[in-house]
Amino acid sequence: MITHQNFIAGKWVGTAAALAVINPSDGSKMAEIARSGAAEIDAAVRAGHDALNGPWGKLDAVSRGRLLARLADLIRRDADALAKQESEDVGKPTSLARNDVAVCARYFEYYGAAADKVHGETIPFQTGFSVMTFYEPHGVTAHIVPWNYPLQMTGRSVAPSLAMGNAIVLKPAEDTSLTALMLARLAEEAGFPPGVFNVVTGLGEEAGAALSAHPGIGHISFTGSREVGVLIQSAAARNTIPVTLELGGKSPQVVFSDAEFGDASTTIVRGITANAGQTCSAGSRALIEDSIYDSFTGLLASKFKALRVGSASQDLDLGPVVNATQKARIETYLDLARRDGLPILAEGEYGTNLPAGGFYVKPTLIGDVPPDHPLAQEEIFGPVLVAIRFRDEADAVRIANGTPYGLSAGVWTSDLGRSMRLAHTIQSGQVFVNNYGSGGGVELPFGGTKGSGHGREKGFEALYAFGALKTVTIRHG
Ligand code: NAD
Repeated sequence: MITHQNFIAGKWVGTAAALAVINPSDGSKMAEIARSGAAEIDAAVRAGHDALNGPWGKLDAVSRGRLLARLADLIRRDADALAKQESEDVGKPTSLARNDVAVCARYFEYYGAAADKVHGETIPFQTGFSVMTFYEPHGVTAHIVPWNYPLQMTGRSVAPSLAMGNAIVLKPAEDTSLTALMLARLAEEAGFPPGVFNVVTGLGEEAGAALSAHPGIGHISFTGSREVGVLIQSAAARNTIPVTLELGGKSPQVVFSDAEFGDASTTIVRGITANAGQTCSAGSRALIEDSIYDSFTGLLASKFKALRVGSASQDLDLGPVVNATQKARIETYLDLARRDGLPILAEGEYGTNLPAGGFYVKPTLIGDVPPDHPLAQEEIFGPVLVAIRFRDEADAVRIANGTPYGLSAGVWTSDLGRSMRLAHTIQSGQVFVNNYGSGGGVELPFGGTKGSGHGREKGFEALYAFGALKTVTIRHG
């Protein structure tokens, strides 16, 4: 049994205590990781500052970009090994993990190419003055990453920060830290100087809390639950540093009677069942116009019934969910649906030879859910789609906006005017018309409104967020 160590200041360092890594496909223990605390976090933050005071702090943007591009190449070289590890660790079907590796490489490629394109401005001012702006790194940035897409989230968070010239401390989720450690090895091989890329594993309330509270951190990037997001923002407030929070959603898929049903139903089912529904931007509420409610839910139901659940390596439509807690959480919501008499319109099936001890949940479609019911309000984070009726456009917008969240929304209609009206009136960080999901679109700014958080990841928005703007005013007469 391997016990994995932290990567701090370019060295692999163990801890006295360890945490078990559980394979979600069969519940077995597959490895151990370091259980870190304040001391390890402090060492990593100091290593980051040492790197900024050393060659990394003086490296020009072109050279930084080349290091990121080299890391992208190495991720692609090791794609099979990374995908296998990610698939085993998270429980996701192997083909999905392969896509995650490709997207992770794309983040380093995209931000590697962007590193030398961060331009300031010259600003016209009074006669006798010249004014210009520069982006400078925040210093050492903290990255607290969830367990649903470890490689994608790490790339999304870390690549723009490195491109801007920061040093990073990454705290992966305790359930799924293994590919982050593989990335650290590749970052070392790519030639990042010691202390630029630090990975410290451990529990959220220990290592995560110590990292977010550390006075040496200049920015925190967090993706995960709202509850922890509030703790992170409070910790950042005490050190008066900026944060990017991505806190999930209860995203609506709004289907009008003039939609193309085939496309809409296939995409909606995939959107809530991919990664066993453990996706922050999953479209978890299907809002369906009254006149087509029965026919459209019938189509959704037939697609749910065709879904098969298996172990990660069986590579079926869905794998297990990540851990026993997550399985229990999803089952609590399914029990609530039964208790409240909500119709279960369809379920998928378990495939053959399902390993015992895994955390499996059947994808489930639930009908006629009142918009204010907990199943229509709370993030279940599992393969559960709730169908809700609406009367007209105004009713659809009211229901779409009637949750604490605002991350993503889908609109399905062939009426261009209506699609534009909804694009404006739905309160959401992104709106997709006749398509859904930006999983692979590293170029597209992504983030939430309301309870889904604030700040934007992906695209150039994320790059600028990892820099502090400095204004230089010269009086020359
Ligand atoms: P979480 O928010 O507890 O964990 C996410 C990350 O935060 C992990 O790396 C964890 O170690 C860290 N963390 C936890 N407590 C911390 C603390 N006090 N200080 C600093 N860091 C801390 O999420 P979870 O418990 O793993 O999942 C619970 C629910 O959160 C899920 O059911 C789902 O609804 C939501 N979730 C959302 C996303 C998303 O992509 N938005 C991802 C994972 C979970």
